[in-house]
Amino acid sequence: MKKVLVIGGGPAGATISRLLAKHFDVTLIQDKIWDKPCGGGVKTIIFKQHNLDKKLIRFKLNYVEMIYKNKTIQIDLKGNNLAIIHRKEFDNYLRELAKKNGANLIYGKFRGFEKNKALVKINNEKILFDFDILIAADGVNSLVRKCLNLPPIPKVITHYAKTNKIKTNTCKFYFGKEIAGKYYAWAFPHETQTHIGSVEAKNFEKLCKYLNIKEKPKGYFIPTWQEDIIIHKGNIYFVGDAAGQVMPLSFEGIYYAIKSAEILAHSIINNLDYKNEWNRRYLKKFKFMKMLEKINQSKLRKIMVNLHKYKLIQNFSVNLWLGE
Ligand SMILES: Cc1cc2nc3c(=O)[nH]c(=O)nc-3n(C[C@H](O)[C@H](O)[C@H](O)COP(=O)(O)OP(=O)(O)OC[C@H]3O[C@@H](n4cnc5c(N)ncnc54)[C@H](O)[C@@H]3O)c2cc1C
Repeated sequence: MKKVLVIGGGPAGATISRLLAKHFDVTLIQDKIWDKPCGGGVKTIIFKQHNLDKKLIRFKLNYVEMIYKNKTIQIDLKGNNLAIIHRKEFDNYLRELAKKNGANLIYGKFRGFEKNKALVKINNEKILFDFDILIAADGVNSLVRKCLNLPPIPKVITHYAKTNKIKTNTCKFYFGKEIAGKYYAWAFPHETQTHIGSVEAKNFEKLCKYLNIKEKPKGYFIPTWQEDIIIHKGNIYFVGDAAGQVMPLSFEGIYYAIKSAEILAHSIINNLDYKNEWNRRYLKKFKFMKMLEKINQSKLRKIMVNLHKYKLIQNFSVNLWLGE
């Protein structure tokens, strides 16, 4: 049986491990149990598509808000189409599911390659892992990418914090140069604390000022997808953030990490070209969203936000964002 070694057990790595475990001898290497800095917003449909436990859904949202210069537009999501999950719990669940399906889950840190094998530090021991196929799902700062001398994933530094100084019942998206700069800022509901952040770190203070609060943010990178990112080299495949597969403009990564893992698993099992398969499924949508993302002049942004008071535009956006 072919040996598949997966580095990184976030949504992408845990999913690919689960999907391949019935066909190959799969080992999943995850650094540690941690709570990835994340808003935790994910399309509800993923629970149905992957038969995931709905108990993981902390909030179901049937509307979101777009805020531009003190003007709030409510966007009807046409049902409970957006879910909020807790990342530590969600990622842990996905890894355990992979294990239940036959993957060998090991907590350790990939450190590089030695004699064509993967070197993993487990506790204080260095162990070499043999593989026929290696899948790099080790996130935006992928060490596997670095070891192969591939260009790093294009990215933006975001700032985010958890606060109990404001409360919200739904996801709020803030637009405009004054609060959010080129992209957007957000406030997402969670049980005890609201998660707030700005896609561009430099705008976090502006968001806090607007919300009339003070918070110390944490910084973390988020990929800015580009068409020419290398996602496959020989017997090594990249998936999720390690392949830059985050939707432009909305910066959704959880759903696309899982869906890209699904495409990769299908490609490996059926001996298909991964890049072709991914492009066939998502290239048009990602390119269209990238084009919208580039509309960063404030006047056009204003028009775009204002257009959302029309139901027709709302329906179009909701379909584009949350539809299949
Ligand atoms: C502040 C912020 C807010 C976000 N909010 C949202 C949101 O609301 N909704 C959304 O859809 N997306 C959001 N994203 C994006 C989303 O978090 C990512 O796109 C998603 O987590 C990608 O999943 P992944 O499995 O590819 O990578 P990751 O989730 O980063 O998982 C990679 C895993 O690999 C492990 N790892 C890394 N290096 C090694 C190593 N050397 N050895 C072993 N293991 C290793 C890590 O510990 C990690 O568990 C947000 C991102 C940020 C930064």
